[in-house]
Amino acid sequence: AVILAIESSCDETAAAVVRNGREVLSNIISSQIELHTLYGGVVPEIASRKHIERINQVIEEALAEAGMALEDMDAIAVTYGPGLVGALLVGVAEAKAIAYAAGKPLIGVHHIEGHISANYIENKELKPPFLCLVVSGGHTHLVKVKDFGVYEILGRTRDDAAGEAFDKVARAIGLGYPGGPKIEKAAREGNPQAIAFPRAKVADNPYDFSFSGVKSAVLNYINGCHMKGIPIVEADIAAAFQKAVTDVLIEHAMTAAAEFQMEKFAIAGGVASNGTLRSGMEAACRERGIQFYHPSPVFCTDNAAMIGAAAYYEYLAGKFAGWDLNAVPNLKLGER
Ligand code: ATP
Ligand code: MG
Ligand code: FE
Repeated sequence: AVILAIESSCDETAAAVVRNGREVLSNIISSQIELHTLYGGVVPEIASRKHIERINQVIEEALAEAGMALEDMDAIAVTYGPGLVGALLVGVAEAKAIAYAAGKPLIGVHHIEGHISANYIENKELKPPFLCLVVSGGHTHLVKVKDFGVYEILGRTRDDAAGEAFDKVARAIGLGYPGGPKIEKAAREGNPQAIAFPRAKVADNPYDFSFSGVKSAVLNYINGCHMKGIPIVEADIAAAFQKAVTDVLIEHAMTAAAEFQMEKFAIAGGVASNGTLRSGMEAACRERGIQFYHPSPVFCTDNAAMIGAAAYYEYLAGKFAGWDLNAVPNLKLGER
């Protein structure tokens, strides 16, 4: 089956054509990063307005690059949550209009299910069960993928998401938005041992996370430097912060792998493109004889190919959306 997928949950307007959930025929991403950089973060209303300007062009390019027309599609898939409501509504309205006019079935996809499914694209043999660490701008979940479309959340962040912490710390040390790639770059010149930032534990669940403590520790450290007149070494702060966050992520991930005796471990979401996290996870998995999976960076951050990958399994299960499909900004994983 060939699916046209649309993604507009945050600040990427994206469309892709995906065959059988694994073969990406086209993957067009129109990022609004330069626009939002001016404000130090995503401005929801600007995001919605840009989506509506760009979405038809992006879809046209996705079809053209795949060398296909709307008639060739077996279904139209769209992210309907979680995300910014105004941004989601643009994609949902567009997908409904296209599906209705072309007489195609409509599939509503959970954005985080999309991030997890990005792993299917390049790992053709990967199938559940496996564990997945989802680390994105708004979510930090340790998930047991029991079957296609069947998830159990083992743990989640109690406060900031991992990506959110990267973004906030980057802003504090003056690196700008989006923080993740900028922290990673600055950290290459820094010493992760230069500053001791805390590795937070959450009392009653070994799989839950907390990143507001390490974020505050960075802010306090910077204030302390200002007060004492000590020069701020951005590279060392970036390296030490990145190490503190990735150490905790890997430790929790490996605790879960041991407890659930899983042979396969995947990572997903924007932060999954971080080199320190990837190599750390890879080494930890290798040590324990666990097969490690990760998407290429372009499939880690927001894109529509991952939505097409997730949609394929909904298609196979005959789970189609009605014409009353709506945006659900706080949609939970495993709900529909
Ligand atoms: P969500 O998927 O939770 O709704 P989102 O869609 O905004 O949030 P993603 O697109 O998955 O998030 O990822 C963006 C996040 O990933 C940002 O917080 C960004 O800073 C972070 N990120 C991107 N690249 C890297 C990197 N190399 N290292 C660390 N973090 C990164
Ligand atoms: Mg984005
Ligand atoms: Fe995302």
